[in-house]
Amino acid sequence: MMVLEGKSVFGGIAIGKLSVYGKKDHAVKRSRVADTEAENKRFLEAKEEAKRQLAGFYEKAVKEVGEVNAAIFEIHQMMLDDQDYVESVTNMIKTQEVNAEFAVASTGDNFSAMFAAMEDDYMRERAADVKDISNRVISILQGSTAGAITGEEPVILLADDLAPSETVQLDKSKVLSFVTRHGSTNSHTAILARTMNIPALIGVDFPEKLDEAPSGESCLSGNVAAGTDNGASIDGMLGIVDGYQGKFYLNPDEETLAKYRKLKEEDEQKKRLLQELKGKENVTLDGKKINLYANIGGVADVANVLANDAGGIGLFRSEFLYLESEDYPTEEAQFTAYKTVAENMAGKKVIIRTLDIGADKQVGYFNLEKEENPAMGYRAIRICLDRKEIFKTQLRAIYRASYYGTISIMFPMIISVAEVRAIKEIIEEVKAELDRDGLPYKEVEIGIMIETPAAVMISDLLAKEVDFFSIGTNDLTQYTLAIDRQNPKLDNIYDAHHEAVLRMLKMVVDNGHKEGCWVGICGELGADTELTETFLRMGFDELSVSPSMVLRVRDKIRNTDLSKNE
Ligand code: PEP
Ligand code: MG
Repeated sequence: MMVLEGKSVFGGIAIGKLSVYGKKDHAVKRSRVADTEAENKRFLEAKEEAKRQLAGFYEKAVKEVGEVNAAIFEIHQMMLDDQDYVESVTNMIKTQEVNAEFAVASTGDNFSAMFAAMEDDYMRERAADVKDISNRVISILQGSTAGAITGEEPVILLADDLAPSETVQLDKSKVLSFVTRHGSTNSHTAILARTMNIPALIGVDFPEKLDEAPSGESCLSGNVAAGTDNGASIDGMLGIVDGYQGKFYLNPDEETLAKYRKLKEEDEQKKRLLQELKGKENVTLDGKKINLYANIGGVADVANVLANDAGGIGLFRSEFLYLESEDYPTEEAQFTAYKTVAENMAGKKVIIRTLDIGADKQVGYFNLEKEENPAMGYRAIRICLDRKEIFKTQLRAIYRASYYGTISIMFPMIISVAEVRAIKEIIEEVKAELDRDGLPYKEVEIGIMIETPAAVMISDLLAKEVDFFSIGTNDLTQYTLAIDRQNPKLDNIYDAHHEAVLRMLKMVVDNGHKEGCWVGICGELGADTELTETFLRMGFDELSVSPSMVLRVRDKIRNTDLSKNE
């Protein structure tokens, strides 16, 4: 058994088989093979497996994002059968007596360079595709899973880190827990774990094989790799994640396993007790009420929102629709997604946050330039106001969907009144177009996210322009404290309760209320039950938290008495 330490980003206990997430770019070594026939067979089998995986993705994508957006997975299957590609790999294995991984990697690089040099835009775009299919075949040859969880059984997923573009491809129903080497408390993997209500650890220096001792303070105990060969891959081995203590057990012994099975049962019992709070009001002992909504990343999360009895959706991170697509999602695809969410919420409020990409959320087809300081760079509303057609497509889709429920819109990363006015002008253009096209819509509430210190300081002016404020404490804290939310080295000084941030929250509530705006929090801090009483005293009207936190926050609110002295 091996016990490793990590930082917990969401509590809970998971017991299950481990699956090591295959990274997209693979380090491939060249080696000489004696039996080239057998090596070629290995390549052809891996290619067939890759096609099977892609066929599975296609089926899944058709259901989630429609046929047009799913088509890329069909193209990838065809590319894998391209005669020139297959011949190139086969010839290399035979004539140069090299391993299949190396032949696939070299062919992938050559073809990709060839496509990249072509005049035609469509062909140039295929450069990334050929790399992608090659990486998939390589990971199958290497025995890792290239992002796909192949078995039927849910697993504990181990990775260096997961980019939002990678997490969207995962079959979430098969993930029991995330364990990553990197990532920070506020990274999107952490947010995803909270949304999914599963334990997650970051900063765990897990080995690839069980005889590779990890560096750092993690400890080895007892018989290393009992029952397995030294050097056995940890992929498929049993593991335990203790999201309360920040511990990760590899190949646990019987005693540890029994202890954790019991703890897991007790944990589930507590969760069942929270279920009794469903249908109850979010009201303090002395009668103060607050709205409690949930944050989502896509249509699939709505079930979780309803299961946890949230009063609405306080943040729909719409950029996940873009991250899930291989190309700009069409107005129709977006309209379907927003309408589905609005209809499923059956008249409850759904606040859609417009596209917030850039920084840690990179979308390939936007072709954003590499920047020195992406968190302070070309992102979110800055891109939307610059690339107006993309923005208008999204706004048209949202307005059309508004007809089917109660939708509000909010805009990320605002720093000035001028931006809000520019947005409002574009909204007027969109509404005029919809009128002209005879497409129905409702009037929607317009709000902004307060996530820059600038927006806080001019919140008195901004409040005159909009209906509500929703404070994005994740970004607001990073910009106020000048601490990159993605940098795990700074997690120890990232003080979410910093007085500077708390004063800002109070200032925003007061400025908002003076102009009749309602004010909420949709950043992770909103779910921090140590601050629930503080937020209630400050006068917040709404908290929007991960679906899994709704009942815990409700429990806290219902046990708070504001009539008592602070
Ligand atoms: C925030 O910044 O607090 C927020 C809610 O937005 P995101 O985490 O998506 O940047
Ligand atoms: Mg933000």
